Amino acid sequence: MSIFLSFFDLFFPDLCKSCENPLNIGEKVICTECRHKLPQTNFHLIKNNPIEKIFYGRAKVQFASSFLFFHKNSLTQSLVHNLKYRGHQEIGKMLGHWYGSILASIEILSSVDFIVAVPLHNKRENKRGYNQVDAFGRALAEELKAEYSKDNLLRITKSETQTKKKRFARWKNVEEIFHIQNIDIFEGKHLLLIDDVITTGATLEACCHELEKSRGVRISIVTMAMTS
Ligand SMILES: [Zn+2]
Repeated sequence: MSIFLSFFDLFFPDLCKSCENPLNIGEKVICTECRHKLPQTNFHLIKNNPIEKIFYGRAKVQFASSFLFFHKNSLTQSLVHNLKYRGHQEIGKMLGHWYGSILASIEILSSVDFIVAVPLHNKRENKRGYNQVDAFGRALAEELKAEYSKDNLLRITKSETQTKKKRFARWKNVEEIFHIQNIDIFEGKHLLLIDDVITTGATLEACCHELEKSRGVRISIVTMAMTS
């Protein structure tokens, strides 16, 4: 069996989702070289790290960090691209277990109750077939012994009656907002809000403001990568 598999792999090897070179036997998703080369921020070890600073004065955050640096034409970029546009959800799962096992030693994260992903609009998720952050979130939830909350935070289109400038709606992109379905579920809970790549933090901030409608909620933030 294993000889057959090796023979098969010789001609149809899986490719590393980062550098696109053939994977060796025993390597999964990314090759050993990429595993060592991917640029980790190690921000989880730093108080007042650059991700936490993004939210100063904008949202109250218990802890925030990103796993990897994201540069143009980098290994991180091809990983994220393969995850977002080529359906390789195993990348999210791999990153979630990898970073989750590191974050499991962070004291403040031991109290996380729910992992909450920045949601896609329903239409967009149906078109793509998945939210690219789901697999990352489920793996993080396993590592942090928390629950993955899938449908309590939604991204919806602002209804016409809510839109002040509805006369101009035809010329504008339709505005999307975040909305908690059941405010009670998150009451008094510690939420770990997650996304793929953080740039300005505006989307995560908007999610925080909606989540803060649940009384006594505490929020931490983790993303796969950060642009720099
Ligand atoms: Zn590689």
